[in-house]
Amino acid sequence: MSIADNIEHIRTTLPLGVELIAVSKFQPITSLEQAYNTGQRLFGESRPQELASKWEALPRDIRWHMIGHLQTNKVRLIAPFVAMIESVDSLRLAQTINQEAERIGRVIDILLELHVAQEESKFGWNPVELEKIISSGIFDTMANIRIRGLMGMATFTDDKSIINSEFAQLRTTFDHIKQQYMPHIDVLSMGMSADYREAILHGSTAVRIGSTIFGVR
Ligand SMILES: *Cc1c(COP(=O)(O)O)cnc(C)c1O
Repeated sequence: MSIADNIEHIRTTLPLGVELIAVSKFQPITSLEQAYNTGQRLFGESRPQELASKWEALPRDIRWHMIGHLQTNKVRLIAPFVAMIESVDSLRLAQTINQEAERIGRVIDILLELHVAQEESKFGWNPVELEKIISSGIFDTMANIRIRGLMGMATFTDDKSIINSEFAQLRTTFDHIKQQYMPHIDVLSMGMSADYREAILHGSTAVRIGSTIFGVR
């Protein structure tokens, strides 16, 4: 199956209102071009340097999402062009993005990254911490970021009951934050190659799919 076939196939399985983020990290430009030629205009990358060089090399109508852990000293590399930073996992990072966006005269869309998986290594807030920080009102003072919603990952496991309960937790947290604090949020980014079908059943609005499109990295 070609990259084009893979993308077309995934698209036929996505309900209306669920966006496909083609996760192109570690893939060569030629592979991204093949995806682009099917009409794909939304790509996700996990490293700022790689994101910046792919932005340079490819057409300007692509929307680029940063989906990997971002160090504050790398924000400058991507701030001028990034469409969304999905992996905002600390207050310091949110403040840095806000400052940099203000400096260059942009408002940058972000997602707050929630940690619900069992792996120690994954970044993000737990639901209690997240509610605490949102209810403090501190994000309201940051005029150059726009919080669009939440991003999260499930544990990497074959056990569907774990995956389902973690996506349910992400969805419950999203609904609660939306109801109590941020009625405007509209993005719940969850689901990868192995688990995007489950994520969609739990209300994902954006799936981040890499290996099922491009093959193994
Ligand atoms: C790599 C990555 C993906 C895509 O993973 P696949 O299993 O290749 O679909 C999704 N989200 C994040 C945050 C990633 O780093």
